[in-house]
Amino acid sequence: MDCIFDKIIAGEIPSDKVYEDGEVIAIKDINPSALVHILIIPKKHIESVNHMDEADSALIGKLIYTASNIAKKKGLSSKGYRLVFNIGEDAGMVVNHIHLHLLGGQKLGAMV
Ligand code: AMP
Repeated sequence: MDCIFDKIIAGEIPSDKVYEDGEVIAIKDINPSALVHILIIPKKHIESVNHMDEADSALIGKLIYTASNIAKKKGLSSKGYRLVFNIGEDAGMVVNHIHLHLLGGQKLGAMV
């Protein structure tokens, strides 16, 4: 297993976990870009949004739903937050396992 997120999911390397169920895990980003920076990751290894099948749609939708619940718990819902999927090189994707970035807790800058 060569994927760092698969290793985190397997408990082989430590993480700061904020949520886990049978299908997804959410961890604090090790190098945060905002005061709140959480990664919501499916336990199923899917390389990127480019590699999704239609059958993965509900699972990827669950990442968004999970992010919204975490945002609510952290009191971000009313002030706002940002959800981002990076896909491929131009987006700066470095970990090839789908993950949704939840960014917030402060005024966020421009998108690009
Ligand atoms: P991306 O550019 O979308 O591939 O983002 C990958 C993210 O994973 C980056 O924000 C990294 O800081 C984060 N990251 C990498 N390794 C770890 C780790 N061991 N624990 C938590 N976050 C990590």
